[in-house]
Amino acid sequence: MDRDRYAARREKLRAALEAEGLDGLIVTRLANVRYLTGFTGTSGVVLLRGNESVFFTDFRYRTQAEGELGRCIRVEVVSSDLWGRLWEVLAEGPSPAEVGFEAQAVSVADRFRFPENGKFRFRPVEGMVERLRICKEPEEVAAIGEAARLAMEALEATLERVKAGQTELEVAAILEGELRRRGSEWHPFPTIVASGSRTALPHARTSCKAIERGEWLLLDFGAQVDGYCADVTRTVVVGSRPDERQAAVYEMVREAQLRARCGIRAGMTGREADALARSVIEARGFGEAFGHSLGHGLGLEVHEGPRLNRTSTEPIPPHAVVTIEPGAYFPGWGGVRIEDDVYLAPEGPQLLTDGNTELRVVG
Ligand code: ZN
Ligand code: ZN
Repeated sequence: MDRDRYAARREKLRAALEAEGLDGLIVTRLANVRYLTGFTGTSGVVLLRGNESVFFTDFRYRTQAEGELGRCIRVEVVSSDLWGRLWEVLAEGPSPAEVGFEAQAVSVADRFRFPENGKFRFRPVEGMVERLRICKEPEEVAAIGEAARLAMEALEATLERVKAGQTELEVAAILEGELRRRGSEWHPFPTIVASGSRTALPHARTSCKAIERGEWLLLDFGAQVDGYCADVTRTVVVGSRPDERQAAVYEMVREAQLRARCGIRAGMTGREADALARSVIEARGFGEAFGHSLGHGLGLEVHEGPRLNRTSTEPIPPHAVVTIEPGAYFPGWGGVRIEDDVYLAPEGPQLLTDGNTELRVVG
C-alpha cells in the first residue's frame, strides 16, 4: 500500500480531532497504529498533533519501522522508557494543549504515568480511529476478499478429509494447516470446531470429543491477508443423511441468513439489518434460540464496527464489510450457524465468501 494512503488517513483523523476540540491524540491501539502508519509490529505508539505525526517504537522494530514507515513520519526508537520519551516530544510542541488518548487501549497503570504539570489536559476518547476504519478503501476490500477466498478453499480441502471418529481438535488441525498453506498469516481468533450437542454452544472451545456419525459439525474460523480478516462459519452433518429436525432447523437458519445477506444495504440501521434474519426465525417460533447478534464489521480486527444487533440505531455507512451470521441453538441437541462476509457497496451487497450454504453431508 502506498504511503500517501496512510498520510490521507491521518489527515482525516486530524479533521476529526479539530471537530472534537483536541490539539492532539495519542494512539496506542495496535490496529489503529497499523491503520495510520502501516506498522505491523507489536510495539508502537503514534502521537498526532498539529501537522506532525510521531511514531514511537522500541529497538526490536528499528529496521522494520524504517522500512514500513519511510520518511513521511518522524520515527523515535526508544531504548527503555517509551512513555517518558513521548512526554518529552509532546513538550516540544505548544502548550497548554488538550490531548486525547484511547480510553479502551491505555491501562490504568500507564494512565498513572501521564504528567500532571498543568501544561497538558488529557481527555479519554473512544472510537475516533475505529470510526474511520469502518469505511473500507478498495485495497482493504480486496485483502478481505482474498482472505475470504482462501478460507473457503481451506474449508473445502478440510471437509473432504473429515471422517466420523476424528476428534474436533484433529479437524481443527487439518483446517488450520490448510489455511496456513494457502497464505493465511494468522488465525485471527481461536478456531471453533464443535460437534454433536456441543454445537449448541455459540462459542464452543474445540475439544478432544470424537465426532460421531449423524452429528452436526460446526466450523467457525478466520483467515488473514495483509492484516485483514475474513470470518466464516459452516455447519454440516457427518456420515449420514440429516434427520427431519436437523433439516428443518438448518433450512430455517439458511433462509434467515440468505434474507439478511441479500437484503442488507448501507444506510439501514444495524437493528434493521438484524431484523431481516431475526424475523424469519421469530416467525417460526424460535426467536429465543437466536440469542446473539446478526453480525459485525471485519477489517484489521475480526470484530470491529459496525455492529449489526437489536440495539444499534446507527445507520451502516457505505463501504463497510460485515459478517452475516444468524444461528439457532438448542441446548442438549445442537445448533446451526451460517456465516458469510459481505461488502456493502453503495449499489448493494457483494458477497466475499462463496455463499454456498446448502446442507452438506461430509465424511
Ligand atoms: Zn465466525
Ligand atoms: Zn463472526
